[in-house]
Parts: sequence; C-alpha cells; structure tokens
Amino acid sequence: MSVGVAVAACAVAALVVGRRVKSRRKWNRVVGVLKELEESCETTVGRLRQVVDAMAVEMHAGLASEGGSKLKMLLTFVDNLPSGSEKGIFYALDLGGTNFRVLRVELGGQRSDLDPDVEQQPIPEQLMTGRSEDLFDFIASSLYQFVEKGNDSVQSPVTKELGFTFSFPVKQTSVSSGVLIKWTKAFAIKDMVGKEVAGALQQALTRKGLNMRVAVLVNDTVGTIALGRYHDEDTVAAVIIGTGTNACYWERTDAIIKCQGLLTTSGSMVVNMEWGHFWSSHLPRTSYDIELDAESPNPNDQGFEKMISGMYLGDIVRRVILRMSEESDIFGPVSSRLYMPFALRTPAMAAMHEDDSPELMEVARILKDVLDIPDIPLKARKLVVKICDVVTRRAARLAAAGIVGILKKIGRDGSGGITGGRSRSDVKMRRTAVAVEGSLYTQYTMFREYLHEALHEILGEDIARHVMINVTEDGSGTGAALLAASHSSSGSVDNIQLV
Ligand code: ADP
Ligand code: MG
Repeated sequence: MSVGVAVAACAVAALVVGRRVKSRRKWNRVVGVLKELEESCETTVGRLRQVVDAMAVEMHAGLASEGGSKLKMLLTFVDNLPSGSEKGIFYALDLGGTNFRVLRVELGGQRSDLDPDVEQQPIPEQLMTGRSEDLFDFIASSLYQFVEKGNDSVQSPVTKELGFTFSFPVKQTSVSSGVLIKWTKAFAIKDMVGKEVAGALQQALTRKGLNMRVAVLVNDTVGTIALGRYHDEDTVAAVIIGTGTNACYWERTDAIIKCQGLLTTSGSMVVNMEWGHFWSSHLPRTSYDIELDAESPNPNDQGFEKMISGMYLGDIVRRVILRMSEESDIFGPVSSRLYMPFALRTPAMAAMHEDDSPELMEVARILKDVLDIPDIPLKARKLVVKICDVVTRRAARLAAAGIVGILKKIGRDGSGGITGGRSRSDVKMRRTAVAVEGSLYTQYTMFREYLHEALHEILGEDIARHVMINVTEDGSGTGAALLAASHSSSGSVDNIQLV
C-alpha cells in the first residue's frame, strides 16, 4: 500500500519536472528567435560606415547618369534657398500628406519666427480617383475661400505667389513645372499621369478668377530644406522620417554630371534623393523584412524606407511576435490578429517600447487591445519591449548612416570627401546643419536618441559637435511658401540655363 503511494508520488513529480523542462525548452526557443533577430539586425559602427560609403557611392552614381542608381537623385531646379530677407505675403498648397492644406505666411524682411495661417481639410474620396479637373477645381476653390477669408483681396491686381507642395513622384522640368510620373497613396487619377502638374493647377486658378502664380512646384523634403535654411544658414540637407522617409540636399551643379552644362546663379541646386529606395548589400536584413517586402503592394521597391519609416516598423514587430507565438505558447494560443498585416501600428509599438511602468502595464494593455493577446507573464512582456527596441534601434541607426552618407558626399563628414586622403584631424570642420521633420523623429524619443547616438558613433565626437540636427515644423507647407518668395523676387526661375 505504502509502496503504491510512493510510486504515484514519483509519477506526479516526474510529470511536473517534465512540464518544467518542456516550458523551459519553449522559452529557450523564443529566446533563440530574439537572438537571431538581434544578430540579423546588428548595426555595429563598422557596418554603419559601410552603409555611409554605399550611400555616398550611390549618390554619385545617381548623379552620373539617369537610372545609374536606385537613388533617383531628381533635379528640383531650386537653385536658391530663403535667406531671411524675403518680404511680403506668400501662399502655399500642400497636397500628398495626410490632409490637404492651404496656408499663408507674412514675411517681414528678416529672420523671425513664422506664424502661418493654416487651414486643412481631407480631400473627398471620389476626387482622388476621378478626373483631374475636378480635383484641381476643388483645390482652387479651397484656396479662393481661404484668400477671401484673410485680409488679402481676391481681386487684387497684384499677382500673388504660390508654392505648391505635391508629394508624389514628379519629373521636374523647371522650378515651377513637372510631369506626374505616377500616383501613390490613395490617389489614382488616370488622366493626370504624364501631365504637367503645376499647369493643371494654374488653369484651375484661372478658371476660378484667382490672380495667383504657381511660383514653385516642390516635394515635402524640398520645403523642409527651405525652412531649415531660413532658420539656419548652415543647412545643407533635409530629412523626413514619418509615414515614409526621404531626403534632399544642396549640391553643386557641376557635380550633377547627368545634366551637363546646368548653370544656376548660385552654382548649386537642391537634389531630391528619393532615398527611401536606397539599397545596399550592407543593410542588415532579416527574414521578416523579406516577408514584409514580398507581401507589400510594391515588392523590391523602397527597401530603405521599409526598414526605417513609420508605415513599417510596427509591422516588423508584429511579424516577430507572430513567429514567437507560433514557436511557443508564451503568448497563449496564436491570436488571429497576429496574422493581420499592419494590425500593430508604429505609434502603438512606440508606446510599448517607452512603457516605463515596472509591471509594463501599457505593454499588457496594447497586447490585449490591439493584438488580442491577454494575460501574459511579465517576462514575455519584457521580451516584446526588447523586440521593439531592436527594430527601432536598427531603423534609427540606419537613418543616421544615411545622413552621414549625405555629409560624406558633400565633404562635410570631416573625412575630406569621398576620395578620402586627409585624415580626420587635419580637416577643419565647418558648422553643418540638417533639417529633420516627421513624427518618428519628433514624437518617438527612443528613435531620436538612437539616431543621435549613432551620428556621434559614426562621426566621432570632434566632428559630430559641428553637426546640428534642427527640427523644422511644417516644411512641406511653410517651406513651400518661403520658396515661392525666394523664387519670385530673385527671378531665378529664368536664370537656370542649359548651355
Ligand atoms: P506624414 O509622414 O504623413 O506627413 P508624420 O510625419 O506625422 O506625417 O508621420 C506620421 C507617421 O509617423 C505615422 O504613420 C506613424 O507611423 C508615425 N508616428 C506617429 N506618431 C508616432 C509616435 N508617437 N511614435 C512613433 N511613430 C509615430
Ligand atoms: Mg509630412
């Protein structure tokens, strides 16, 4: 009898031990997934420097010939940037962001805090896929009402100058004209593709009887560099890290080899890199990136952007959690939400990453509310925070490498330019500013801190000290109005010559 009890007790003990071993094995598997993620997202300074070099080399290639690189290096014909001396009232239209906006800014002839009047509204959905005339009539009407509401007279005989920010791929033909290459985001107006964009707006303004001239047609990064330069004359580049990511910079025209004989008064021009499409074998890529790309509507497109911008970071994290959930039961039964593309948005991911409560209650709440994963142990919640950290750290460090790549291309990284030669210490580093905009940088503290940290690691303290990262606010709107100003008074529109 007593023997029987002893045997039963042993069996129970064996069962408990067995369970523990099994759960430890499962935990080990999850830790293995994390380790693999960390390894494949590795961004040592050495690797970042390779990305820097690749960016500078691709910039050269994209400037050398049309289609010479994944970097399009688009000419903008913006050959002067605001100096602060601009004077008068200028308008801007911003189409292509989340909302359509009209704005007016009054400039007093010296640098000052700008306080534009802004009005924003969504574009009615049917207009996004209808006829181009209807879209531009809608835009012209909004502008007409906006002008009417302000102190400015609609009927004024003086032509008002307008900056038009149009954040879609455009082949620019002058500073104030360009042809739509293709629509992106929710827009799909067939009769507009291949047509001149500013002209279509200009005609609508005329139909409306509005005495206004489209002085510049730009994309949002170009507006940002303009606003950056207005506030800081050492600004040489602008970077946007929001839903997507892109950059532009101030280049010497003689370096734009694919357009020989380009003459501008300043000897320089803003080049729109379209850096979201950058690619290099040195980029640390994971199986999650490969899957995300393959399942996206634009595979093999925007590779850099897919590792960096707000549209994608949350979805990379979702894919890692899904993989862990499939490999073990630490997240309970696999939640069906984990299979939904973009179920986890980047702001929610950032909130988990930055949860500083000891029990990680915000992580628990988001996992439950967003991904339908309730009640997981603290150590699993910590794991989720770690995933967010790995993904965001990689993104921010790659963005930093991209920025240094630009600085290297224009000889502002302290290395004496792409051909090298001089050692870092004998180069006198000029103060250099980069304008940055976008919610990832401005709203996501960890992202911003990792970006700064990487800049310092790559450049070294001595050089990094001279590089300012300036946040601009609403370059895509205000910057376009500033460009309308700097391209109206100087008359530089006609100054660009091809000889
Ligand atoms: P847009 O790129 O549309 O012009 P933003 O620069 O504001 O606008 O970027 C919006 C993107 O930034 C969103 O798609 C989102 O992914 C991301 N985002 C917004 N808020 C946060 C946040 N607090 N933390 C992290 N990412 C954020
Ligand atoms: Mg934006």
